[in-house]
Amino acid sequence: MNNINNKNSLITGSSKGIGRAIAIELAKQGINIVINYNKSQAEAEDLRLELIKDHGVKAEIIKGDVSKKDDCNNIVSKTIELYGSLDILVNNAGIIDDSLLIRMNDDAWEKVLRTNLDSVFYCSKPALKSMLKNKWGRILNIGSVVGIRGNIGQVNYSASKAGMIGFTKSLAKEVAKRNITVNTITPGYINTETVDVLKQEQKDNIMNWIPQGHFGEVEDIAYLAGFICSEKAKYMTGQVISVDGGMAI
Ligand code: NDP
Repeated sequence: MNNINNKNSLITGSSKGIGRAIAIELAKQGINIVINYNKSQAEAEDLRLELIKDHGVKAEIIKGDVSKKDDCNNIVSKTIELYGSLDILVNNAGIIDDSLLIRMNDDAWEKVLRTNLDSVFYCSKPALKSMLKNKWGRILNIGSVVGIRGNIGQVNYSASKAGMIGFTKSLAKEVAKRNITVNTITPGYINTETVDVLKQEQKDNIMNWIPQGHFGEVEDIAYLAGFICSEKAKYMTGQVISVDGGMAI
């Protein structure tokens, strides 16, 4: 699928997990990558070398905390400065901070909303300017099955991911005639550090909700992301696609 050479992408939160796998998948298509991270510098540097060595693309690293508006602006403007354009934006960075609403403090609410949802606005807006100029673009958001089904202890997280769905559908309509697509993938439980921290009892409980009976792998998300960001997906926009072993059925 080596069909969109010379395109430039930014994947927020790509030092680890799903974002990292998406970066590799896009690089396989010859797409240049900007890796964004907040804390995991060593992982970001390892990935940069891997992308250059194994896939021959340009790969740069931009540190920045997407929960901050100024950092979002800076990450996007630096990407455009480095590569001349930003064609593909993957809003992937996300966090959880779980507790029942009755015990949830303001900080947990605000931090999760800022990181998972405000960042989508603050990164997409400047990125869109570059896409409109070049008359081509892909914005891909990484949501969650929890944004569709809800989950006990996650009012902040599910609200942020549900908000992303409204954002996706509205922006998709706004830019539909401009050769720019906006879509969301809603993963179920995927084996990453986020899931590693769960207790075995919690994992066993979650398994009951998954018709396929097991967690997914980061590549399950990345393969679809690779397609959505490719030229082949040009007629697909405003969609929310579950990759969750059947959890959202
Ligand atoms: P990981 O914890 O494995 O990785 C999270 C990534 O996001 C890291 O690269 C981290 O970078 C980065 N990140 C976190 N906060 C910030 C920030 N403020 N600014 C910039 N980067 C940040 O997470 P996953 O791969 O599991 O999750 C990726 C996305 O997928 C998230 O949006 C998550 O909500 C979603 N998702 C995950 C599911 C799962 O089961 N794993 C299920 C459904 C959705 P660093 O370490 O450098 O801070």
